Amino acid sequence: MSTEVKVPELGDFENVPVIEILVGVGDDVEAETPLLTLESDKATMDVPSPVAGKVEQILVAIGDHVSEGTPIVLVAETAGAGASPGGQSQPAAGAPSAAAPAGAAAAPESSAAVPGSTGPAPAATPPAAAAPARSSYETQVVVIGAGPGGYTAAFRAADLGLKTILIERYERLGGVCLNVGCIPSKAFLHAAKTMSDAEDMVARGLHFEAPTIDLAALVGWKDEVVGQLTGGLAQLAKRRKVEVVTGVAEFVDPHAVRVGDREITFENAIIAAGSRPVKLPFIPEDPRVIDSTGALSPSEIPGRFLVIGGGVIGLEMATVYDALGAEVTVVEMLDQLIPGCDKDLVKPLATRIGKRYKQILTGTEVKAVTAGDEGLSVEFSNGQTEIYDQILVAVGRVPNGKLLGAERAGVAVSDRGFIGVDAQQRTNVPHIYAIGDIVGQPMLAHKATHEAKVAAEVIAGVPGAAFDARTVPSVAYTDPEVAWMGLTEATAAAQDVKYEKQVFPWAASGRALGLGRPDGLTKLLFDPDSGRLLGAGITGVGAGDLIAETVLALEAGLDAQDIALTIHPHPTLSETVAFAAEMQDRSITDLMPPRKKS
Ligand SMILES: Cc1cc2nc3c(=O)[nH]c(=O)nc-3n(C[C@H](O)[C@H](O)[C@H](O)COP(=O)(O)OP(=O)(O)OC[C@H]3O[C@@H](n4cnc5c(N)ncnc54)[C@H](O)[C@@H]3O)c2cc1C
Repeated sequence: MSTEVKVPELGDFENVPVIEILVGVGDDVEAETPLLTLESDKATMDVPSPVAGKVEQILVAIGDHVSEGTPIVLVAETAGAGASPGGQSQPAAGAPSAAAPAGAAAAPESSAAVPGSTGPAPAATPPAAAAPARSSYETQVVVIGAGPGGYTAAFRAADLGLKTILIERYERLGGVCLNVGCIPSKAFLHAAKTMSDAEDMVARGLHFEAPTIDLAALVGWKDEVVGQLTGGLAQLAKRRKVEVVTGVAEFVDPHAVRVGDREITFENAIIAAGSRPVKLPFIPEDPRVIDSTGALSPSEIPGRFLVIGGGVIGLEMATVYDALGAEVTVVEMLDQLIPGCDKDLVKPLATRIGKRYKQILTGTEVKAVTAGDEGLSVEFSNGQTEIYDQILVAVGRVPNGKLLGAERAGVAVSDRGFIGVDAQQRTNVPHIYAIGDIVGQPMLAHKATHEAKVAAEVIAGVPGAAFDARTVPSVAYTDPEVAWMGLTEATAAAQDVKYEKQVFPWAASGRALGLGRPDGLTKLLFDPDSGRLLGAGITGVGAGDLIAETVLALEAGLDAQDIALTIHPHPTLSETVAFAAEMQDRSITDLMPPRKKS
């Protein structure tokens, strides 16, 4: 006897595409063996066979759209084999359907699993009664990579009631950012700032003895900071009942990854596998050549130190090594430091480090490096040859997209290793999402965490979840710091965007003068028609914190008057933002108001 298997009740959904056929003609199936996978805009779901038998005919193809009652497969029942528990060939009313959003699918299990879950329940999630009882998959969400993108996605997914597995190849969670990126670099930068502040105060009458640097203790403190954060993450994962699997994940097919000898099947995956430093092929393998990871665990401070790459990471490391006593040279191929940032914002930094470093070479390439007993000999494109004791290569990062077997899941990866996504962080395979460095620039932790929440919320069916931030702010935590967001003048020129600009010089800020650091500026760009803020750039101590106000102003669509009429505490550096807005509003009194354009 043949059973015509039909699409069961799909809750609110109809006309959903078949994205995968899991059996072939002639296959033996048990009752409950998944036959094919459907995908709504909220979740993927398998349709199981209600009976045991042999697949006789497949009545649909991948891409076909089906609704409740559409015949999908003919199964010749095995003699004597019973139907699935319950004895029905279709789910009974009130029994789990195969088509509720993923969030609902595990609602009973997950809500028990995450006591105290604080995330809002997705409004689109239908009541548990309409949810499928069980998925044939081991988990609803698998997250690959536990950097800021991955752990945020996993935690948010769990808080939204989704059964979640987080896979990380290293024992410690936190990825690049916590272990070998944002956090350790900022700990070292704080140490550097403490020393350079003390040096700066000499000219103002405060004399300290030259610092004695216990490098092992300093590295130990940095490790402690990292340990506190990464340990905290492990605790948070445990409390949320996120299962953490240690090992390298590789896709087996669109619904399974392998980690060692374990295969994990999933309804949805979030790829958060990050990036790694770019290597320059012509530079020899030598222990004296390091990347940012090596630079953050120094065993000694080199004498002659070359930083290849005048971007944010290179310059932050240069700041640290300079303060610790190295003789620093920076070489940058393009014609300015921090390419991509407006020149006027970089200038105060270039001026300060120009006095401190041995050399800053812009518009210059490294042509060759030769390792010798006396050091690393470096040939530059300007004809100069110099010897260094250590070289830091900080020329960018390459995404890990090609290291995941993504092709087995059908996920498109670009030649450079990036994975393309839409505003909901979906890849070309709709139930597989990607976030963080692996999806593109800017490679920043706060972009990764924002995207992570979008992906988790889209999977859970939170209405309106999408990446629609107006800007991702950038910060170089150098001394002085350089921060920018929204429209830059360089982009405005390239795209012919009209704007009005106001620059408040920190030399007119009482707070900046009192800190002995008037070497800063706050620049705001406004839309000449609407008057709204379009972009901002701040250079000076603490610029990374100050830029946040302008990001909020941009997101809120504020104009100069809104900012100027907001009372800023005095004396603070935050006033410089208000002063620049007052310049646009022509209400400034701390400087002469700018002349009105005729
Ligand atoms: C020195 C330095 C300083 C930085 N400073 C800042 C800063 O101040 N602010 C800022 O916003 N950004 C900073 N960044 C950038 C920031 O670290 C990254 O943008 C951020 O870590 C990206 O997060 P992610 O989750 O995409 O990936 P990652 O943090 O790269 O995490 C990816 C994780 O995936 C794991 N993984 C990869 N492949 C697999 C696999 N197949 N199986 C299992 N696990 C896998 C990796 O081990 C890693 O833990 C800095 C970077 C560096 C190097």
